[in-house]
Amino acid sequence: MSELAYPYEAPASQALFDRAAAVTPGGVNSPVRAFGAVGGTPRFMVSGSGPYLTDADGREYVDLVCSWGPMILGHAHPEVIAAVQEAVARGTSFGTPAEGEVALAEAMVERVAPLEEVRLVSSGTEATMSAIRLARGFTRRTKVIKFAGCYHGHVDSLLAAAGSGVATFALPDTPGVTGAQASDTIVLPYNDLEAVHAAFAAHPGEIACVITEASPGNMGVVPPLPGFNQGLKDACAANGALFVSDEVMTGFRTSRAGWYGVEGVVPDLMTFGKVMGGGFPAAAFGGRADVMAHLAPAGPVYQAGTLSGNPVATAAGLAQLRLLDDAAYEKVDAVSAQIQSLVTEALGKEGVAHTLQNASNMFSVFFTDRPVRNYEDAKAQESFRFTAFFHSLLSNGVYLPPSSFESWFVSTAHDERAVQRIADALPAAARAAAEATA
Ligand code: PLP
Repeated sequence: MSELAYPYEAPASQALFDRAAAVTPGGVNSPVRAFGAVGGTPRFMVSGSGPYLTDADGREYVDLVCSWGPMILGHAHPEVIAAVQEAVARGTSFGTPAEGEVALAEAMVERVAPLEEVRLVSSGTEATMSAIRLARGFTRRTKVIKFAGCYHGHVDSLLAAAGSGVATFALPDTPGVTGAQASDTIVLPYNDLEAVHAAFAAHPGEIACVITEASPGNMGVVPPLPGFNQGLKDACAANGALFVSDEVMTGFRTSRAGWYGVEGVVPDLMTFGKVMGGGFPAAAFGGRADVMAHLAPAGPVYQAGTLSGNPVATAAGLAQLRLLDDAAYEKVDAVSAQIQSLVTEALGKEGVAHTLQNASNMFSVFFTDRPVRNYEDAKAQESFRFTAFFHSLLSNGVYLPPSSFESWFVSTAHDERAVQRIADALPAAARAAAEATA
């Protein structure tokens, strides 16, 4: 493959972006899609099939974003599509209970032992927002500990020092979040248990919960140090607070039982999204039955949703979960490991300082030679090298997350041909990273 197999310009995407910018702030419906961190024209996709996306200019890309995690079976998996078509034909929303939502909840509870009861919602943001409300209602306390670089959706009280788009755009504090909301959030450095103990000591009887990404992927992939999550759990238990593990990204991805399945630390509450929706808006929170019993209509903490447990979304999610057997995870883990070593090899050959970190099949590259343990470390990387690396790969038909603060995602559909396409594109990208200047 030649170094620039695809022309760099994307006229059809650019025309759509111009149209979008006239009617939508910044031309996108979620900030990181705008390519703000890397520049250039965001690609407007028209279709996806297996490991590939095709843009409005008719170019095909190997997709290493997978819709930011959900598409763990690749795009348009025939069995998921069939389940969706069957559900759609029976009606798209009833506003009543329906069997699909029971079946999805049962499938989740069966896979994740600490999940005794689960409530379905429509986005990861709603899941974390509701979990925090429930934790506050249950403990009758107000304060929440979160970690810098962890993203839990755009919940007002959780946007302080968040990762993902907030990291990409370096937004320190978001206008529109009140001082009261922000002041109930205590932001601590990730992987620092001493800071957690100090915060509990400084606020006796005030902390409702600690929320953390089970294994963070929103400042790039920064796994918990051994004992960190258990330490959080123990500190919460000792201080009457709840331990909330956000598995929106890791849930049903890093193993059949998510990050819980990898590490075994038992949270009080958990949040889910992405994979469990099969590419549709479905998310959830759940955990200890005695805590969940405080939720309306069983208890006093209110939470609701017109489209919660939507029949099409639950059909997609259930179809996807059923297909995710041990062999599927082995496949995703293996192809992830293969791509990780190709990346390291290409960057190593060009002498580019980098650290590749993974949490089972989630991984990302930091352009620094030091291990990245928290958000400060992540921000210290040479992001300008990522920009050059990204654009070289994009122009050769490989679609990475358009930010160095995001996890890369693969699927069971990433086959030899897709991996070869990545292998062919990497040498030029590594060279571009080596030659990049700040
Ligand atoms: N929590 C985590 C760990 C996430 O990665 C995300 C989204 O990327 C969210 C919560 C928010 O989910 P959603 O975008 O569905 O609102």
